[in-house]
This record gives sequence, C-alpha cells and structure tokens, in this order.
Amino acid sequence: MNLQGKKVVVVGLALTGVAVAKFCARRGARVVITDGKPADKLAEQMKLLDGVPVTWELGGHDTKTFTSADLVVMSPGVPTLPEMTAARAAGVEVIAEIELAYRFLDPGATLIAITGTNGKSTTTALTGKLCEHSGRPTFCGGNLGNMPLIDAVDHPANVPGGWIVAEVAAFMLENCTSFAANAGVLTNVTEDHLDRFGTMERYAEMKGRIWDWQTPGDVAIANAADPWVMKETAGIKSQLYTFDSRKGASAEKGAYLDGNDIVLRLPDEERYPKDDLVIVGNHNMENAMCAYLATRTLGLPPDALRAGARAYRPLPHRMELVGDRGNIYYYDDSKGTNVASVAASVRGFPRPLVLIAGGVDKGGSYEPMLEALDGVCKGIILIGKAGPLIREAAAAHRVTYPVVDASDMHDAVRRATEMCTSGDAVVLSPACASYDMFQNYGHRGRVFREAVSAVGAKRLDQPSDH
Ligand code: ADP
Repeated sequence: MNLQGKKVVVVGLALTGVAVAKFCARRGARVVITDGKPADKLAEQMKLLDGVPVTWELGGHDTKTFTSADLVVMSPGVPTLPEMTAARAAGVEVIAEIELAYRFLDPGATLIAITGTNGKSTTTALTGKLCEHSGRPTFCGGNLGNMPLIDAVDHPANVPGGWIVAEVAAFMLENCTSFAANAGVLTNVTEDHLDRFGTMERYAEMKGRIWDWQTPGDVAIANAADPWVMKETAGIKSQLYTFDSRKGASAEKGAYLDGNDIVLRLPDEERYPKDDLVIVGNHNMENAMCAYLATRTLGLPPDALRAGARAYRPLPHRMELVGDRGNIYYYDDSKGTNVASVAASVRGFPRPLVLIAGGVDKGGSYEPMLEALDGVCKGIILIGKAGPLIREAAAAHRVTYPVVDASDMHDAVRRATEMCTSGDAVVLSPACASYDMFQNYGHRGRVFREAVSAVGAKRLDQPSDH
C-alpha cells in the first residue's frame, strides 16, 4: 500500500490516532485528524504531534472531509459514525488501524492475534513472553500496553522470523477487510459492550472475524466450552484447535487440563506443568492453553515456551493482592469490567470476601456474578451509576448478605473493611466500566489502592503506572 500524496483522514485523537497520524505522515500522506472533542480537550494529544504536518478538524466531523479522502482510518474507541457510511457510499475505503497495520506487516513475520470478551490481555502478554524466549525479535501490543499495532510496522520484529503478538478488540475487527493472523485466538464470548453492538449475535460475529480472512495454512484457536465461540468456527478455512478447561475434557487437536498438567495434542501429546506459571485459576489456565497452542502450532520450541512461562508475571489490576490490614486482604481486580470476568475471579475464592462493584452498566445480566458469589460473599458495596441495577439483581437473587451504597471509593473501602474479620478479603471487581467516576480502569485501581492505604493497610503491590 502506498500512502505517498494520499489524503488520509484519521478519526479519533487518542493514543492510536496519534500513532496512525505519525505513521501516515512519515509515509508522505496528507493527514487530516478529526475528533468529536474540541481542541481545548485534546491539548495533550495535539502536543504529541508537534512538528508533524497534519490538518486539524476538531469539535466535530465534516462529511466532505470523509467523502473526499483516499482512506479513512478509525481508532478503536470511536463509535460508528454517519460520516463513515457516507464515505463508503462515495467509494472511500474506511478501515481500522489494525487493518492498516496488517497491510504493512512482513509476510514472513508470524502474527498471533488474540480476541475475546475476557482474558485478552493476559493471553497476549503471556504469548509475548513465550515468544521473547525464542530469542527472535518480538512485538507484543495491539490493545495492550500503549503499543498500537501500527507501531509494529517499524519495530525490529517486523522481519521474516519475527513474532508479532496483538490483542485485538471487537471494535477493531468491525472495520477490517483482510486482517488474517497466522494464529487467531478467541478466548470466550460473554455479555459485554451490548451498549455498542446491540445483540450478542452481532457482538459474537464481530469477534468471529478474527478467523474470517484466514487461509488453510493458518490456525484458529477456540474455546470448546463456549457455544458462542464454537458457533463462529462454522465455515472457517484455517485449522481448528480447541481448548477446554472442563473436568474430564479432552481434544484430538487442542488443549485440556489433566491433574497438574496442561496437555496439548498437536495431535502428538505434549505436557506442560501448571506450576511453571504463577497465575492461577481455571480462567488463567484457559489463557495459558491459548498461548501454548498459538505458539506451539507456529513452531516455538518447547524449551522457549517453558522458559517464557516461568518468567511471566501477572498484569496489574487483575486480582492483584495490594494490601493487608491485620489479615484482611485487599485485591485490586479493577480490570474486572464485565460480569463474566468478575464471576471467573470470585468463583471458588479461597476466603470470605466483600465485593466492591458498580460503575457504568454494560447492558447485560448480573446473575452469573451473583451465582459465583454464592457461598463466598459477605456483602456487596455499591459505587457508581449501576448501583441500583446491581441492588435489584441481588434482591432477585435473594442474597442474604448486606448490599450497601457508598459515596465514593474511599467510603466503599471503609465500609467493606468494617464488614470483614481476620482472614477475609475486600475485592474491587466492579463488573462495570469506570468512566462515571474515573478516567479508566487503571485510575479506578489506583484510587482503590490509595483508599486501601487510607484505612491503614500495609501496601503489598509494586508501584505501577498502569
Ligand atoms: P481482557 O484484556 O480481555 O479484559 P484480562 O486478561 O485483562 O482480559 O482479564 C480481565 C479480567 O477478566 C481478569 O481480572 C479476570 O478476572 C478475568 N479473566 C481473565 N481471563 C479470563 C478468562 N479466560 N475467562 C474469563 N475471565 C477471565
């Protein structure tokens, strides 16, 4: 693809938009950046483009700009806009940032793309770690770690033999037309983002696009226990490998758990001890099976896999133990932004817990979370806008523990602590988006940690900028 002299409209001025604008300008494109927010709200991002020749169109969009473009590139956070439809009607290509990046990747580099409602970041980071241990150049990013996929193009890993590992969101796949990874992973599909996609069918279909453009040399990795995922495997051209964390499961081509081992059938059997990993829980074993299958089917040596697995450390804000006050333990699971992720984190939790939940509702049911809390939960403290909805769901579930409103995070941690005795846990796992009270889940987690310190707990976490 040649961008020289082309008019490229970059939609959305956040991290990805900045990276795309720089990328296109470097390749000689005439770049227009447009964002619904006005310039005074975007000063910080605009500064990042100091010295880059771009034209600004802020505080709204002009249809003519879209229809007269050679190419429109969408950032992941931008909703579907009427201007996009107009551009397409005028014959202009409108694509996601990952689609643009994909067109510039070296066909000799190995691309692993990971999507799903939950487990994307963990699986991506773990896969990246395994690849690094092969000694070959590795890029690990996408939706993860402030490294949009467009940054992979000029990365040392974009060469024959390099590894490119990308976390991919459904929003991105929506605007793809050819994006095909050598291995495409779909971890699970549960209720999330229904506010944007409307129905589960549409949401699952967008996730299923991870396999739509693959060819027979590629690998599709699917969760055998998830009917939404399996439905999307119908008609795919790539080689299907499944993973299944249920007791007694097996697979002819895929992965399952047996005692203390993760078993791969490629189809020859390989066994890897779960103890290589510090991450725990069934859901994390699913993430590991995905990472192991993706890398082994694409030729990563077993020794590199094991060395990478041993070196992997969990990401922040995922069930991270961050405080201890007289044997009351505080866990930051601020990344628990939907019901299924909270259910996965708290099911079978080893100690009684008080849950802090709430924020911006995503339009699904809270019942799976309440069911997973049965038997371990001592109380729920509600924050944010979704409070009344969670309270209603808890009443319908006939919970016997208290459900209490809090005015802010500090109040929530204080109230949760009051409900605990020695040996209990306070868990922030909100099941909701954060933007009614916080900038993002990282900010929510940091405020939680401050509140944990404020009730006099000893902090156990590492300083983090996430
Ligand atoms: P994502 O990037 O998809 O949000 P993460 O790896 O960041 O996924 O995990 C987010 C939260 O989802 C974790 O805190 C954990 O509670 C839960 N989770 C992680 N992996 C899985 C999985 N495979 N299935 C269900 N829930 C999971």
